[in-house]
Amino acid sequence: MNYVSTRGVDHGLDFGAILLAGLARDGGLFVPESWPVLDLRAFERFAGGTYADVALEVMWPYVDGSSFDSDELGSIVADAYSTFDDPDVVPLRDLGDGLYLAELFHGPTLAFKDIALQLVGRLFDAELARRGQRVTIVGATSGDTGSAAIEACRDREAIDIFILHPEGRVSDVQRRQMTTVDAPNVHNIAIAGTFDDCQDLVKALFADTDFRDRRNLSAVNSINWARVMAQIVYYVRCAAQLGGGTQPVSFAVPTGNFGNVFAGYAAQRMGTPISQFIIGSNRNDILTRFLESGTMAMAGVKPTLSPAMDIQVSSNFERLLFELCNRDGARVAELMTEFRGERQFSVTADQLALLREHWDGACIDDDQTKKVIAATYEHYRVIVDPHTAVGLGAAQARRRDDGVPVVCLATAQPAKFPDAVEAAIGVRPALPDRLRNLLERDERFDSLPNDLAAVRDHIEGVLG
Ligand SMILES: *Cc1c(COP(=O)(O)O)cnc(C)c1O
Repeated sequence: MNYVSTRGVDHGLDFGAILLAGLARDGGLFVPESWPVLDLRAFERFAGGTYADVALEVMWPYVDGSSFDSDELGSIVADAYSTFDDPDVVPLRDLGDGLYLAELFHGPTLAFKDIALQLVGRLFDAELARRGQRVTIVGATSGDTGSAAIEACRDREAIDIFILHPEGRVSDVQRRQMTTVDAPNVHNIAIAGTFDDCQDLVKALFADTDFRDRRNLSAVNSINWARVMAQIVYYVRCAAQLGGGTQPVSFAVPTGNFGNVFAGYAAQRMGTPISQFIIGSNRNDILTRFLESGTMAMAGVKPTLSPAMDIQVSSNFERLLFELCNRDGARVAELMTEFRGERQFSVTADQLALLREHWDGACIDDDQTKKVIAATYEHYRVIVDPHTAVGLGAAQARRRDDGVPVVCLATAQPAKFPDAVEAAIGVRPALPDRLRNLLERDERFDSLPNDLAAVRDHIEGVLG
């Protein structure tokens, strides 16, 4: 498989190249040149297959033609998903009423990003080793996503990772999930400042081209195609388990950057019979407003109970836009320039109508989120986290056909967001086994002032 950029200039790169590049040089996102299609037999196999077996078969066409061979991919996949604490990796839980929860939170950090990052960290390491290269990953976190990147990179030979967090402004559990990781290549930095300060420092480090090139700075950010690819697997597998590849299934997805639900679109293009995508947004509802009006318009970020979805722009939407524009990269580049300049762009009435054949969205605010957590507990005796509740609430509001099962993606373990859950149901969810004694483990991090030179010198000193 070769890859093209959504802005049409870069093309003809193989999987290894786009894995390490992340973003295309023309500013676009990489997508496969064509969508591989699964036959019915494959769905029959997938219905009873292990997660790792299905993952290898679904992902192989995207990797084929690169320096990875299928044995190597198979062992990386098996290793990545052996870190999950449920043997089924993504168990499907039947709530009743045709609603299902696909539990994406059994990885090391209890949130769905592990599914992609556990794989991508290992893919990076293998490709870098082959090329005799090293990278330095630098990132900032407000608390929710730093640990997934750290767990993905820990103990990887060719990677050093530095994660900046605002000192005293992340919860104890969140900080400890990062700072108790005992691996020589993991470096936590507490910055005397806010999350925005941390982000500005990271941007400034990347803007220092001399430092960036010398240390081969990189980010495993959510626009990397390999992350989307890893997420296609559970859409295909859930559909195979519920409908054998012949019966339609719908998905409800709590959405921020659009990476998760775009993987669902890819599964549909591969032949998975998905009849409806229901996007759940919190008050940061740029996507639901777009589905109503055909206009994508930025607004300021509002803090909510589902912080991993507090975003202004859904970067991965550009991949769907590319398809809506019949893969006309020049047109996508124009729309993106307009978006940056005027903070909005519109699609045509025909494009919107095409999209609405399968897509619906609902905005679920914090009040409704708490009500969904409470009602789910009352009716089904299941505790869901606030992100999952947004998807579930959207499913209940927008489901089109009661005869079609709806799989709601459960993106975080409720114990990751204990305050919101307790406020909704009066019960504080217990930390699962793998995080017991988190509060007793030794922490390791360095405290630095909010100062670019101090952070750069520190990184140089650690790398030697
Ligand atoms: C990242 C995240 C999401 C949003 O996923 P996108 O791919 O950005 O749409 C939802 N829930 C949780 C818990 C997350 O960490």
